[in-house]
Amino acid sequence: MILLLGLPSASRGIGASCQSGYNPGPETMLRITKGSGALPYSQEKKLAASTVVQAAALCRAVQQEALLEAMEKGDRSPVTVADYGSQALICQQLAAAFPQDPIVAEEDSGALRRPSSKVQLAQVVRHVRRFLPDASSERVCAWIDAGRGCVAQRFWTLDPIDGTKGFMRREQYAIALALIEHGQVQVAALGCPALPMKWQGTSSDVGTLFVAVRGQGAAMAALGNANSVPIHVAQGDDPSRLRLVESVEEAHGNAALQEAVARSVGIRQPALRLDSQAKYGVLARGEAALYLRLPSPDSRRYGEKIWDHAAGALIVEEAGGRVTDMRGRTLDLATNETMRANRGVVASNGTLHGAVLRALAEPNDAGNVT
Ligand code: AMP
Ligand code: MG
Repeated sequence: MILLLGLPSASRGIGASCQSGYNPGPETMLRITKGSGALPYSQEKKLAASTVVQAAALCRAVQQEALLEAMEKGDRSPVTVADYGSQALICQQLAAAFPQDPIVAEEDSGALRRPSSKVQLAQVVRHVRRFLPDASSERVCAWIDAGRGCVAQRFWTLDPIDGTKGFMRREQYAIALALIEHGQVQVAALGCPALPMKWQGTSSDVGTLFVAVRGQGAAMAALGNANSVPIHVAQGDDPSRLRLVESVEEAHGNAALQEAVARSVGIRQPALRLDSQAKYGVLARGEAALYLRLPSPDSRRYGEKIWDHAAGALIVEEAGGRVTDMRGRTLDLATNETMRANRGVVASNGTLHGAVLRALAEPNDAGNVT
């Protein structure tokens, strides 16, 4: 099936406008019929999970070929062959199955269309072709740009590789896909190809898929294995057994304040530092009890992006946890690609949440940033 979207190649960078919905026409639609008695969102969940699993396989294949050199985007952040391949693969399948749904994704084909990126474009096409045999340079760029949709009543948001720096270091990264309706995440699929099924232990299963549907709980499975198990956040009254999880990148948070707040609510374990929304995954399955992402003193005006949180947040909530910003506000997923109404993010097992928000509202040795 060919889906060729004739969208221009302007960047999603600051000031760039998104594109309103695009209907590829009935001949290119994959018809989704709801079976009677099926749980709500079962088709969306199935497609989200399968396309994220494929994208994870693509990312691993790129990593095996050591194609880890990054191109630079307009905002100077890194982007690799795998980011583009993952976005092309997922957007093509979403647009074919749900042609009315806009997709708000992190990448666009701007940097990839430059003459200097010819080699990388050919590599992206080669990797995508393993899954979509009719991939060509033009089609792959169009599929990537299918991710330039606008926030709407119902839309998908995608980070094709969250934690690109972790991917390049062969550490943690994630493929994060979420369906949002009326500002609420309804379906989430989070592929973490480098995350073992257990953070500590002898498990040889590296690669975890987390899936959640609102009201239906959260589960995880080994990537490529259909058997999923329900997951739950950490319970228990003894905070000294609980852990904080935070970013590896210093610039993406305020480590001093994060650790001070964690100590103030009784957390004694050393913090776990992971790239990407894998942090939400380990929180949802009880290996950490608190994820803090407080504005960095060096980039206080940074606005968190919806694709960096939507999927992970639903997985934590459906596992019994709570996710807000540092002032206790719900995540603003209905306005724009940037969560303008929020500052920072606090995700917890639920029981710690109130104490954390109270600690953040008070002056702190590490410098209060509220
Ligand atoms: P992580 O791996 O959790 O550190 O997050 C990676 C994500 O951080 C990237 O996808 C970026 O969108 C995002 N990011 C970039 N700059 C900042 C910043 N100054 N503060 C917070 N997040 C950022
Ligand atoms: Mg990201």
